Amino acid sequence: MTAAADLVLTNGEVHTLTDPDETYEAVAVRDGEIVRVDSDYEIDFLNGVETREIDLGGRVLLPGFVDAHVHMETVGRHRLRGDLRDATSPADAVDILRDSDTGGEWILGFGFDESTWDDSRYLTRDDLDQVSTERPVVAFREDLHTAALNGVALDRLRADLPESDVQTAGGEPTGVVVEDAAEVVRNAVEPGPAETADLLLAAQRDAHEKGVTSVHDMVRRSHAPRVYRELEAAGDLALRVRLNYWSDHLDAARELGLSTNHGSEFVRTGAIKTFTDGSLGGRTAKLSYEYADGDGSGQWVVPPRELHDLVRDADDAGFQLAVHAIGDEAIEETIDALTETDDPAGARHRIEHLELATDDQIERMADLGLVASMQPNFLKWSREGGLYDSRLGPARRDENNRFPAYLAAGVPLAFSSDSMPIDPLFGVHQTVNPPEETQRLSVTDALRAYTSGAAYAGFDEDRLGTVEVGKEADLVVLEGSPWERPGSIADIDVTYTIVDGEVVYEDR
Ligand SMILES: [Zn+2]
Repeated sequence: MTAAADLVLTNGEVHTLTDPDETYEAVAVRDGEIVRVDSDYEIDFLNGVETREIDLGGRVLLPGFVDAHVHMETVGRHRLRGDLRDATSPADAVDILRDSDTGGEWILGFGFDESTWDDSRYLTRDDLDQVSTERPVVAFREDLHTAALNGVALDRLRADLPESDVQTAGGEPTGVVVEDAAEVVRNAVEPGPAETADLLLAAQRDAHEKGVTSVHDMVRRSHAPRVYRELEAAGDLALRVRLNYWSDHLDAARELGLSTNHGSEFVRTGAIKTFTDGSLGGRTAKLSYEYADGDGSGQWVVPPRELHDLVRDADDAGFQLAVHAIGDEAIEETIDALTETDDPAGARHRIEHLELATDDQIERMADLGLVASMQPNFLKWSREGGLYDSRLGPARRDENNRFPAYLAAGVPLAFSSDSMPIDPLFGVHQTVNPPEETQRLSVTDALRAYTSGAAYAGFDEDRLGTVEVGKEADLVVLEGSPWERPGSIADIDVTYTIVDGEVVYEDR
């Protein structure tokens, strides 16, 4: 006599997303674990009086999405502060900021992307002085490496801003600051513990609505690690969180005896995160050639010597590394540095973004066993006239985000959103319907990169990423089938999100 299940999901199209993908009708869950994947007939034997049954009505059930690179506080800020992601012009951004006043001291906006505007320029001091001339106002670009300040904010922070990263016109600051100066601004508006809990819970809701059941959060000088653990202890955390700590925490993590994969069921220590170059948006990604629309070929955020030292120290301390590298020159330097580690494949060292890797670099990654941590949603900037086009020129249109090349070479591919925005189906849609053939993945491969692929990047492939007996019952139910509607995957709604066997989101 088999014990009854806590939850059965029947009458569905269950995709295991194993290799090969298998389909079944039903899944049974007990104590937060998948205990059977089978036909409706067989699963019915586990349906007891206490069992909750969900009739899927033919809907598609998949393993819950794992988003391998997010910034959860930023996601929370988009929900609770000025959300500039959909602003259509500088004037529109000013309107959104005026309406977003939540009563704190600072008026903050996040996520503007001037590359989508007809008036394609950064916000400036003049724009933001229209929001307020009495309170400090800051608007962050989508990548957080560029910020715009009003006069009050500039006056307040000016002394701490490194001159070289403060843009000027006729000797006067325009209000635009980049890189190290943008970091000073980020630190100045950092939330306290209570506000952090509000932001993370708002971000968790956002993740659940999009079918995400696990995230790798990039944290730096933040209350988030402590707050996540408090939320877990209080029973309020329904998202598996892997904390990738910024490199300036390496000494502290080492002294405290933290190392990769330490932690609880819901909160674990992940990698040490570092940078090499900046971003394409800020023309700071390090290229082996000149930008098509500006001077220079980018800049190091962390110079090569420092990178090599850090990689060695973190690797010696038993940490996985997650290294941000976008331009081909930054990628080359990163692979060189990771080559020097003890066991690159065993440590699953990851390179983040990897937007412009060459064939040769992809081969080297395959040989070393490095993980490619990439963002299919970035293809939204790869259209004609988009960001990649203007920065790199149309001749290089097919050179960015070549996901199939990684799979062909045998590089483990982990997908994520970089929270721009959290929305796996939007990312899957982009790579299934890409601007260039070099960027096209099948529906199954794209979904795998967002489930088992991302799980592998977090050492979680034995408990997450497929629908199999013994795995955690982290599941997502979709209203439509991505295989039947490949041209409109981004429009498919999430019907249920289930974490640890509990329904945490239900579309009503
Ligand atoms: Zn990021």
